[in-house]
Amino acid sequence: MIRYAKPATLDEALTLLGETSWRVLAGGTDFYPAQGNRPIRENILDINAIGTLRGVVEDETHWVIGARTTWTDIIRQPLPPAFDALKQAAREVGSPQIQNVASVAGNLCNASPAADGVPALLVLDAEVELRSAEAIRHLSLADFILGNRHTARRSDELVTAIRVPKTSAAGTSVFAKLGARRYLVISIAMAAVRMTVDDRVIRHVAIAIGSCSAVATRLPHVEQALVGKTLDGALGTVIETAPMPQLAPIDDVRGSAAYRLHAAREIVARAVQAVAGQSHRREAAA
Ligand SMILES: Cc1cc2nc3c(=O)[nH]c(=O)nc-3n(C[C@H](O)[C@H](O)[C@H](O)COP(=O)(O)OP(=O)(O)OC[C@H]3O[C@@H](n4cnc5c(N)ncnc54)[C@H](O)[C@@H]3O)c2cc1C
Repeated sequence: MIRYAKPATLDEALTLLGETSWRVLAGGTDFYPAQGNRPIRENILDINAIGTLRGVVEDETHWVIGARTTWTDIIRQPLPPAFDALKQAAREVGSPQIQNVASVAGNLCNASPAADGVPALLVLDAEVELRSAEAIRHLSLADFILGNRHTARRSDELVTAIRVPKTSAAGTSVFAKLGARRYLVISIAMAAVRMTVDDRVIRHVAIAIGSCSAVATRLPHVEQALVGKTLDGALGTVIETAPMPQLAPIDDVRGSAAYRLHAAREIVARAVQAVAGQSHRREAAA
């Protein structure tokens, strides 16, 4: 018999996950469209009554985003400028109705190459907290999402939080999304850039791109090429020539692989220019 459970506590949820196999249900905005009209044949573990999983808190070392935290919660939460890219990505996920129920963790667990939350969290060096009744694991986001619709989560584990080290919550950040239209659209390509600047020199930069490989990825060659450059330097030229071997886009209905490769470089350049401009204004105002 198919079971439905809506536990009120995390302990109860983890006990159930240890007993048998369940499909976790959060906001349902990926779950229900994927299900379509087919009958549900899996046990459903609805986590929407577990209040402790929702919200963003700060501890000594990390910003901790609870697994049920919605995109609207992210938009409304006061956070350092390093989270601006995540807030901008939040505003791009579907529509306000979707943002009100859809969770950040659901976006990661669904592991779509086009998940808008992933690049913005990659540039924050985010890690995923997984709990079972027996243990707790922390995996870097890169180690958590293993492929298209494939994560490192074990069947007895729940993703309980996304953790951002405070050391990575530095600088300012920007998210740029390219779609076939401006709004309510799945990304053809999207980029997030976080930059730390001192005395008009780029001291640290993190760049991630999505929808151009099976899993969104950082671009370490571009990052290395930009560190040490001045904000008034020819940043566009650096990005034009820096290697991006991590990208392996596919042809699909939204765009060809060749178009995606070209577009990727362009949106990275635009995001870098935007974040450089912001960093410059912040320095000038300080
Ligand atoms: C109209 C529409 C527009 C959309 N537009 C966008 C868009 O522009 N950009 C974008 O990135 N996405 C978009 N989405 C997809 C979706 O809204 C997001 O991916 C959302 O963040 C998913 O969160 P959720 O809480 O609804 O997940 P759910 O649908 O509840 O779950 C998604 C998957 O994650 C698993 N899961 C969820 N939470 C956990 C957990 N805590 N632990 C373990 N497993 C878990 C579920 O079992 C399921 O497999 C859109 C969806 C719709 C319907």
